[in-house]
Order: sequence, then C-alpha cells, then structure tokens
Amino acid sequence: MDCVFCRIIAGELPSDILYQDDEVIAIRDINPQAPTHILIMSKAHIPSLAETTPPINRGGLLAHMCFVAIQLAKKEGVSETGYRLVINSGAEGGQEVPHLHLHLLGGRRLGKLG
Ligand code: 5GP
Ligand code: ZN
Repeated sequence: MDCVFCRIIAGELPSDILYQDDEVIAIRDINPQAPTHILIMSKAHIPSLAETTPPINRGGLLAHMCFVAIQLAKKEGVSETGYRLVINSGAEGGQEVPHLHLHLLGGRRLGKLG
C-alpha cells in the first residue's frame, strides 16, 4: 500500500487520532497551518472529491465528514471564534495526498482564499 493516509488508517504509521468511526478518522496535520489543523479523512481509499459523485454517490459520507469536523471544532474551542473547512481537489486545487480528506483550520484569523 503506497498511500500515506491508508497506512495511517491501517495503523502502520503513527498519528494523533482525535476521532474515528466506521467511515472516517480525524488526525492532527503533521505540518499545521493554524493552531488547530485537523484532517478528517475517509477510511475508504477515495482518491479525491471528484470521485465522490455517481455511479457511487458519496454525499452521505461528505455530510458525515462535515458533521465530524463541526463537532471537533467545538471540542477544540474554535467554534465561537470561527474556522474553515477545505477540501483540495486535484493538482490545481492544491491536493498533495490523493486520499479524500477535509481540512479543519482555526485558532487564528485566516487570510482570503487563493
Ligand atoms: P492536501 O494538500 O492533499 O489537501 O493536504 C495533505 C495534508 O496532509 C497536508 O496538510 C500535509 O501536511 C498532511 N500530511 C501529509 N503527510 C502526513 C502524515 O504522514 N501525517 C499527517 N498527520 N499529516 C500528513
Ligand atoms: Zn488511501
């Protein structure tokens, strides 16, 4: 298996696990871009957001990833001050790891996108 996130999910690589269930796992980003920087990833190896549309509709999974992120934002204490959820998709979208994940960023004032 050459996917770094699949290896984390399998427990082959260490990570700081904050939450997991049958569908998702949430870990701290190894190179945080904000005081709170959490990755909520699918347990299934889905290469990108572009692969969440039919024939397999992953809308429920995406909603669940958002739901988990919202709960973690509250737990981290950034819900009141504000935070950002980001999914990078594809090379020009800035995606580096080809395994579906949602970034939760908070704890500082974030700049404009782009
Ligand atoms: P992307 O650019 O694909 O949207 O985001 C990939 C993220 O994964 C980056 O923020 C990067 O710091 C993080 N990352 C890459 N490798 C590892 C790792 O081995 N462990 C953890 N915790 N985060 C990683
Ligand atoms: Zn993977």
